[in-house]
Amino acid sequence: MIPLCVPDLTGNEALYLQQCIATTFVSSVGPFVARLEDMLTASTGAAGAFATSAGTTGLHLSLIAVGVRPGDLVVLPSFTFIASANAIAHCGATPWLFDISPDSWTLDPALLAATLAAETDRSADGVIHRASGRRVAAIMPVHTMGLPADMDAIVAIARDYGLKVVADSAAALGATYKGRPIGQLGADLTVLSFNGNKTVTTGGGGAVLGNDADIMALVRHLGSTARVDVDYTHDRVGYNYRMTNLEAAVGCAQMERLDRFVGAKRRIAAAYDHAFAGLPGVVPFPQPDWARSACWFSGVVLSQPAPESVVVRAEMKRAGIEARSFWKPMHLQPPYADAPATSQPVAGEVWQRVVTLPCSTNLTADQQNHVIATLRAILG
Ligand SMILES: *Cc1c(COP(=O)(O)O)cnc(C)c1O
Repeated sequence: MIPLCVPDLTGNEALYLQQCIATTFVSSVGPFVARLEDMLTASTGAAGAFATSAGTTGLHLSLIAVGVRPGDLVVLPSFTFIASANAIAHCGATPWLFDISPDSWTLDPALLAATLAAETDRSADGVIHRASGRRVAAIMPVHTMGLPADMDAIVAIARDYGLKVVADSAAALGATYKGRPIGQLGADLTVLSFNGNKTVTTGGGGAVLGNDADIMALVRHLGSTARVDVDYTHDRVGYNYRMTNLEAAVGCAQMERLDRFVGAKRRIAAAYDHAFAGLPGVVPFPQPDWARSACWFSGVVLSQPAPESVVVRAEMKRAGIEARSFWKPMHLQPPYADAPATSQPVAGEVWQRVVTLPCSTNLTADQQNHVIATLRAILG
């Protein structure tokens, strides 16, 4: 079986883990955590980084730190992994689900501006969603599959309305937007994931990136049980959301090879795009000219919705190739079916046509050629 996406742990991972064991620094106190945070600021251009236990916990912390409160709404593209919506729900808030742009599969700034103008009122309490009476507290753009959303446009709208921006940048490490790295795109906070299938993994983990020292200090404080001194005094309800030194050890070894990993991901995506260009019945993943995707996932978009994509995936599997669907949008998920939402002509349809293809950073050219030949044969 050629797997969809598996990690490459052949660098210094084992050596650094051995150092954790030898020194007994296995908890979140340990030198690899600080080293990983420094590597993250260096590679993303953010002023500060806080390593977390997961992308989800990083998102939850970030929303609290920018002031999201129970009862609020947070703007979210419906086409995302459920962790984005869950982090909003963990705050006692509700996602306001927006459709995506067909050209990028990210939050559509034109739809955002038009919907905020038509469906909210500005008051002393902030921006109020007229239909529900709820306060709109923040916007969470998602860098879909590692492709940055159109951040200049989104951040400008957010500033106009006084809304905070927490970017779900889970899979976008290594991406650029108009030449800028992901820590410099104007979001108040930017969140990464190092889950097992992400380009850089720590097994499970994440990080919050930010440029405002006060907000980053709050993130670090809240994520470390809000402890104010060594004598067990805590000034708020805090969270134990720190990354451990064991995880960070793996992360440091992975970050040493970030450029190579992202280079491999982009090469794999380009090879699929090239191989299937012009083939009837398929189109490539979107590639707007404002960004260079980190190409977390590769694959094709079928012209026809399910059941064709279901059949194609099943036939690939029979041929020993893992090919999968992609995110089922949030407005179709039971926990979020009642959340306020725009109409979803793009997200509601595109997810049924996506076929993701093997894209591990150590995928060989022979393996990729086999995947390409197999899919060509299936598509006839
Ligand atoms: C992977 C991912 C996450 C979640 O991260 P975890 O580390 O698994 O909690 C959140 N959002 C998006 C868009 C993701 O792809």
